[in-house]
Amino acid sequence: EDILTVRGLAKSYSKKEVVRPLDLSVKKGEILAIIGPSGAGKSTLMRMMDTIEPPSQGEMCIFGEPVTKHSVHRIRGRMGMLFQKTVLFDRTVAENVELGLSYRHLPKIERGERVAAILEHMGLSRFAERGARTLSGGEGQRISFARVLVTRPEILFLDEPTANLDPVSTRILEEMIIRENRENKTTIIINTHDQAQGQRLADRIAVMMDGTFVQIGSADEVFYHP
Ligand code: ADP
Ligand code: ADP
Repeated sequence: EDILTVRGLAKSYSKKEVVRPLDLSVKKGEILAIIGPSGAGKSTLMRMMDTIEPPSQGEMCIFGEPVTKHSVHRIRGRMGMLFQKTVLFDRTVAENVELGLSYRHLPKIERGERVAAILEHMGLSRFAERGARTLSGGEGQRISFARVLVTRPEILFLDEPTANLDPVSTRILEEMIIRENRENKTTIIINTHDQAQGQRLADRIAVMMDGTFVQIGSADEVFYHP
């Protein structure tokens, strides 16, 4: 069952077509990696799919519903995003994670319970009262991921989430990504310039170059070496 489909989706900036009209369908529970060189248009495509950026052309259907200005806010509330650059506020870890819930109209006590539960689940409880400033890069990105997961997203968009991390922190975050997918059937779309990361994580890989997909398939199909 398709959870996200795009048809003829394209984006131009001042006449330059950065994403050329493309089609894509993503199944519920799938991990799709979009790989390709810097400048290929991966981030622009992802910003359209996560509804941050309106497309120049094309249509999207998410959760079985066309994305329109009427539906976009409701749809966006069921999705989560994590970026290359960690953004934390100068507060405790628990307060930072709770900020993920700030638009959810949940009672304070329930917010606190959900924050404690997600930190516990991710093995991050020991950081709860630490100031965000005291975290390493890898720890900070794990907390950012907790801030996304506390909202229980049904689709996760990850834009080069490990590009600034060392190899150990990269593997830890990858394990958290896989676990979230396995346990909650969360659909995951991840941009990476790292082919090996695509192979480690993804059910399906789309190779993007010059604003379009040049290949899409399983790792074996995409990385076939005769
Ligand atoms: P990738 O994520 O694959 O590195 P991007 O989507 O970031 O690719 O960028 C694709 C192209 O679009 C690049 O040439 C970039 O300079 C251009 N681009 C991205 N965002 C903008 C913008 N807001 N205005 C103008 N050009 C942009
Ligand atoms: P309507 O027919 O209700 O005007 P459309 O089907 O024409 O809606 O959708 C266009 C509007 O939907 C855009 O003006 C924009 O506000 C919103 N929209 C559609 N796709 C996106 C997207 N990817 N990101 C943000 N907004 C979007």
